[in-house]
Amino acid sequence: MNVYPLKFQRNATPPPVADGFGRKIGYLRISVVDRCNLRCDYCRPSADDYHAAPRQHLLSFEEIERAVRIAASLGVEKIRLTGGEPLVRKGIVELVARIAAVPGIRDLAMSTNATLLDEYAQALREAGLQRVNISLDTLDAQKFSRLTGGDLRDVLRGIHAAQDAGLTPIRLNAVLLRGINDAEAAQLIDFSIREQLELRFIELMPMREGMDWQKHYFPVAELLAQPEIIARVDMSAWQRQGSSAARYLPLRDGQGRVGFIEPMSNRFCVGCDRLRLMSDGKLRPCLPADNEVDLRSAMRSGSSDREIADLLRNAAASKQEIGEYRFEARGHQRSMIAIGG
Ligand code: SAM
Repeated sequence: MNVYPLKFQRNATPPPVADGFGRKIGYLRISVVDRCNLRCDYCRPSADDYHAAPRQHLLSFEEIERAVRIAASLGVEKIRLTGGEPLVRKGIVELVARIAAVPGIRDLAMSTNATLLDEYAQALREAGLQRVNISLDTLDAQKFSRLTGGDLRDVLRGIHAAQDAGLTPIRLNAVLLRGINDAEAAQLIDFSIREQLELRFIELMPMREGMDWQKHYFPVAELLAQPEIIARVDMSAWQRQGSSAARYLPLRDGQGRVGFIEPMSNRFCVGCDRLRLMSDGKLRPCLPADNEVDLRSAMRSGSSDREIADLLRNAAASKQEIGEYRFEARGHQRSMIAIGG
């Protein structure tokens, strides 16, 4: 079926892609691998229960580049590489260079746990990566190790490497976890001021089984009631920025701002402008919804660029106005490690 109005059928460039609620899609998040070198309980099921997709199911660099080129022709300007951990994908620097060279891509960012950034930051910058979001939930080395299985020193080295390479502005994302790091928010704010990072707190989202979601869910409203947060944050001036999922409050004394991403308590879907392409080639229109569009099969069965563009349009058209998270186990089919956040 041809979905383009007649005036566009004669044109080489299709019209920009939008969803059924008039939201123009300008942002594609691409998970480049579904493996990670950390083991956060809220992101992935236990090792016994989690199996990365077979290698041949991963989109190749050529396929990812093609998807980006077609998305760019539909008006996508912003790409974020994520995972799993994107830096464990072999050849990641080459992939960044390929995407950076696609005409129309103006903003190329990566979400990473930063443990390998010390090694890669400079090469990524030279390849065309512009900035990074770094995930860090605690500054307590022992807790970090319990929570992730990793070494906090690697992350701190990674943050400094990103600063030295100019992968800025750097955002620090911390998931709020009741009973684990809910008393550490002020410490994280102070760290972000010292290191000139933009900190954002994220509410825990229940995905596939992994952790006791209800037990560890800690809403932003509770955080904002903590005296040490009230002492640091000016509560009177909420700000929003473009289609960002976060809303922000200024820090006192002009020390920057802190962001809050509230998928649970204050749905962040209103200005959503994104699609997610997962490492197995499925397009996910909405983070919590399990309906997916199979781009990989289409690409591997000889679909034309036009047909791939139609799949991107279909994915956009099937976006929900507001996504819905379910607390019960198996409420969702995918874990975040597979989706990419
Ligand atoms: N490995 C990279 C990283 O650490 O940023 C990219 C992938 S990771 C899935 C992306 C983000 O999703 C991280 O900030 C992580 O903390 C967040 N995340 C994972 N599971 C989550 C959950 N259940 N609720 C909220 N955020 C989650």
